[in-house]
Amino acid sequence: MRILVAGAAGFIGHHLAKRLLGDGHSVVGLDSLTTGQPRNVKALAENGKFEFVRGDIAEPISVTGGKFDQIYNMACPASPVDFKHKAIEIMTTCSAGVRNLLDLAHRDGAVFLQASTSECYGDPQVHPQPETYWGNVNPIGPRSPYDEGKRFAEALTTSYRRLHGVSTRIVRIFNTYGPAMRADDGRALPTFIMQALKNEPITVHGDGSQTRSFCYVDDLVDGIVRLAASDYSEPVNIGNDQEVTILQAAKDVVKLIGSRSEIRCVERPADDPERRRPDLARARQVLGWSPKVARDIGFARTIEYFKSL
Ligand code: UDP
Repeated sequence: MRILVAGAAGFIGHHLAKRLLGDGHSVVGLDSLTTGQPRNVKALAENGKFEFVRGDIAEPISVTGGKFDQIYNMACPASPVDFKHKAIEIMTTCSAGVRNLLDLAHRDGAVFLQASTSECYGDPQVHPQPETYWGNVNPIGPRSPYDEGKRFAEALTTSYRRLHGVSTRIVRIFNTYGPAMRADDGRALPTFIMQALKNEPITVHGDGSQTRSFCYVDDLVDGIVRLAASDYSEPVNIGNDQEVTILQAAKDVVKLIGSRSEIRCVERPADDPERRRPDLARARQVLGWSPKVARDIGFARTIEYFKSL
């Protein structure tokens, strides 16, 4: 197939493009390099079937070379730190950007897969979160540019399916980690690992009793590829359902590295979700998928990557 991966210089886009190239497909990677890393593109460019196009999906997209069979939209700043400084850019990416890609998919008759997020559930009042839960999102809170942007993107994607018959997929991605993340993106795991490697204090927000469920990136990518190959158009959660407190995740990192870092509890950001764990029943049933990589193995691989930087 000829496949477009928007956001191929980003963490997940990079791994997805690598997997698709490994499966023998031709991949065009489109990225504005706003938060994506040139290092991630360089690694892909070693494969002759990869082409990089620098561009912003929110601007008119000009990619030559024929029709696409599949379009994956992985393009969007995604760290809570970005929600503040890149608020308007995130909302433009999730609206005008998604529309541009949907128009391209409509024109080419391509399958369109939109990367959505567990942030659609906000600070959830249902636990674990099934896809049928509509969420608890503050529309004007500090996380709203991303949360509402992605919710709008889901609505737009669904409208293109209903009105134009575009073959669409929506994946709701839960906290994912692994090599090729940005060391300074502000998210918990890269921050903890970099702090532990330097024997600096580990900055746990609040008392660290809030939970997340961390998924290794290879598991996520496998779920995404399966979803694109299915004909399932409703949203599907992909993540790992092993829930852990942030304090425990910090302790795990310190232990695996053998670091002398102490845990330091610092101020917790507003609207930080209290608990998060995917209900994976739909992914298991529709895709025959479930996560495979245990936390200690995934953490160890990720630590090796950050060490190599
Ligand atoms: N967090 C933390 N210290 C940090 C960065 C994040 O304790 O240096 C917490 C954050 O408040 C949240 C959890 O770790 O409760 C996961 O944050 P992350 O930014 O990785 O992703 P989120 O799930 O919030 O999108």
